[in-house]
Amino acid sequence: MIVDENRIKQMKEERDAIIIAHNYQLPEVQRIADFVGDSLELSKIAKDSKASVIVFAGVRFMAETAKILSPEKKILLPVKSAGCPMADQISAEDVRELRKAYPEAAFVAYVNTTAEVKAGVDICCTSSNAIKIVNSLNEKKIVFLPDKNLAYWVSLHSKKEIIPYDGFCYVHNRFGKEEVLKMREKYPDAEILVHPESPSDVIESADFILSTSGILKRAKESNKKTFIIGTEFGLIYRLEKENPDKEFYSLGSPKICFNMKKTTQKDIFDSLLYNRYEIILSEEIIKKAKKSIERMFEI
Ligand code: SF4
Repeated sequence: MIVDENRIKQMKEERDAIIIAHNYQLPEVQRIADFVGDSLELSKIAKDSKASVIVFAGVRFMAETAKILSPEKKILLPVKSAGCPMADQISAEDVRELRKAYPEAAFVAYVNTTAEVKAGVDICCTSSNAIKIVNSLNEKKIVFLPDKNLAYWVSLHSKKEIIPYDGFCYVHNRFGKEEVLKMREKYPDAEILVHPESPSDVIESADFILSTSGILKRAKESNKKTFIIGTEFGLIYRLEKENPDKEFYSLGSPKICFNMKKTTQKDIFDSLLYNRYEIILSEEIIKKAKKSIERMFEI
């Protein structure tokens, strides 16, 4: 639902707030955001911002990551139920059990995990630095969680023994190799850019495997005029906006993350007005999870 953008601006000033939005958010939300980016970029922006209130238009684990990095700030998630089904596929208890089964392994968690899971692992990673993080570790055995597809992508670029958790993103997991073949036939000059949360046969048949920021960068720098995009459909709005002379098509039917589309301008306005929904984490979880994230930053 659309709100008068001046009212949102005024409310932001009154609350000393900024609005940050993930690349997969609705265009109406991206339009009013102070910053649009991937989850880690946004958490860093939240950390460096002088604002005391951060409205995070995204899903829960993202707002939690911002809270872990900026515990002194008020982090608001406008829609309480906006979660990430992949992050919810593994609990802190699951990590504790896996630790018993693989005591000699290093535990690497994708940032798409809950704060409690981050607190229970050795280090975090993003889709853009996962290979580098895994290869930097001393341990030969790596338990990689929760995304089995990202784990597969990492295993193609590492000599380590990767033990994947059986999680997946229900959005990216719907891409298929037949879609790559069809789009290649239809647009033979196009570049096919795919996110590493996609299934292994899609990873093997695409041109480039990139994070969302990697896709944005590649589209800008490439000489090609046409691109087939294998990630959540929302990224196409930003790609088109930033590259008006180029064409972008979804790899097969558009793949939508419904949780990412829950937030509207009205939710953001209400979030500022009613101070909701504040992310609250215990000091202990923040301390432990921060260690995993900061170790990633060091590498
Ligand atoms: S696109 Fe996938 S990983 Fe991202 S929030 Fe949605 S379900 Fe989670």
